[in-house]
Amino acid sequence: MRSIEHFINGRRMAGGDGRHGDVFNPNDGQVQAQVAFAGQAELDEAVRGAAAAQPGWAALNPQRRARVLVRFGQLLEAHMDELAALLSSEHGKVLADARGDVQRGLEVIEFASGIPHLLKGEFTPGAGPGIDVYSMRQPLGVVAGITPFNFPAMIPMWMFGPAIASGNAFILKPSERDPSVPVRLAELMLEAGLPPGVLNVVHGDKDTVAAILRHRQIKAVSFVGSSAIAEEVYATGARHGKRMQAMGGAKNPGIVLPDADLDQAVASIIGAAYGSAGERCMALPVVVPVGEATAQALRGKLLAAIAGLRIGVSTDHDADYGPLINAAHKARVETWIQAGVDEGAELVVDGRGFELPGHEGGFFLKPSLFDHVTPDMTTYREEIFGPVLQIVRAHSFEEAIALPTRHQYGNGVSIFTRDGHAAREFAEQVEVGMVGINVPIPVPVGYHSFGGWKRSGFGDLNQYGMDGVRFFTRTKTVTQRWPSSGGVADASFLMPTSHA
Ligand code: NAD
Repeated sequence: MRSIEHFINGRRMAGGDGRHGDVFNPNDGQVQAQVAFAGQAELDEAVRGAAAAQPGWAALNPQRRARVLVRFGQLLEAHMDELAALLSSEHGKVLADARGDVQRGLEVIEFASGIPHLLKGEFTPGAGPGIDVYSMRQPLGVVAGITPFNFPAMIPMWMFGPAIASGNAFILKPSERDPSVPVRLAELMLEAGLPPGVLNVVHGDKDTVAAILRHRQIKAVSFVGSSAIAEEVYATGARHGKRMQAMGGAKNPGIVLPDADLDQAVASIIGAAYGSAGERCMALPVVVPVGEATAQALRGKLLAAIAGLRIGVSTDHDADYGPLINAAHKARVETWIQAGVDEGAELVVDGRGFELPGHEGGFFLKPSLFDHVTPDMTTYREEIFGPVLQIVRAHSFEEAIALPTRHQYGNGVSIFTRDGHAAREFAEQVEVGMVGINVPIPVPVGYHSFGGWKRSGFGDLNQYGMDGVRFFTRTKTVTQRWPSSGGVADASFLMPTSHA
């Protein structure tokens, strides 16, 4: 059985607390590898190496650090097919989608390659008589990231790109369900010229997370995962004096106004609802048509589109989406589908009970579609994270736009319309962090930043963009005066002010 090792101080390393996780091949349901969970000893070794490497890395001028990221970006492109195949083999997303996972991470690396510009501080000459004030951004030291299974390339890069560019050393604890790609990323960073110890990968589960959150030398932790865990991780890390950010779950609705181009809207919604088997925090698992006529027309077009979807193994180039991550998650999604039925929603298409011929053990679910879902149902309030789309019918624009604002989650939302004024009003008023206007998956580009509101995000800084740089640096402000020699200043016992 293949075993997946940690990456500590520039090399692969075995070892752990005696526990391990199974890594499945989601296409056939077989265990394809095991990953040993780090104990305190492995984490301590990673942190020791990181703490030793960090000052030298931070002392390099920012342009030299940027060059490592530029070379890393080139290596990502050169290894794109290999990374996508590895990612797809453990996650189950189809190859083209796996390439997108790497590509969106690469775009953050490209942003972070501009670090000489991004770290430029502020300067005020003559803030007082002969006094200049300047501020600079300095790295925090050793920082950590804890990432979910659904984007094993992109989300680690969201974090370690800005963190390492800013001069920190990084400990990554990726999802134990698809841990191979993060290790390859760390190897490619080394090949790009990153000194050993600056980027480490330690595998594990909640025990490793707990050890990271209590580790005295780790100064900040960035987390992405489900909301209950994000909230707990955020609070625990803060209690241990760390700077924290924790992104959580989501339930993003797509609102369809009566004037929308329905064919375009359906093409967008179908891809965003079922792509990657719905295992995206920016998926659109809810659609809200406004008015009965829109609902009827939309339902008909959704049904036709669903009938044409192809579910296949992750290497099938013609498949629209592949299997789910593991049997436990598949069972959880099936339980949610049953809950929807029990709560009285109409299950128009039931995706359960599907076996792909020749891959009977695979974790496949066909698309499910619910109609007449109402906001009081738990299946509407909670995240399902599978290929399940729910229609929630709204009678008016006001009713539709109130839904995302009232929902416990506030990650993403989309509106489909030809009415610019309505869209603008909506974007202005809705209490959600990321808004798409005729755009189904409004994940911001690498030079903006990613973050949800309410229970989709704990903390006040987003991922990547300038917020990523801010999260992984602290500001130092220097007030300086260079008096001419010989002049002895009188002692002053008053608070200095700008009136002086
Ligand atoms: P998860 O919460 O189960 O795991 C995330 C990370 O936390 C993993 O590294 C895991 O090992 C660790 N972990 C698991 N249980 C823990 C515990 N009890 N205490 C501490 N750490 C623990 O999430 P997942 O299933 O890997 O990923 C899917 C979830 O992530 C979904 O809810 C999805 O919406 C969310 N997500 C959010 C974003 C975002 O940016 N908002 C992006 C991607 C995924």
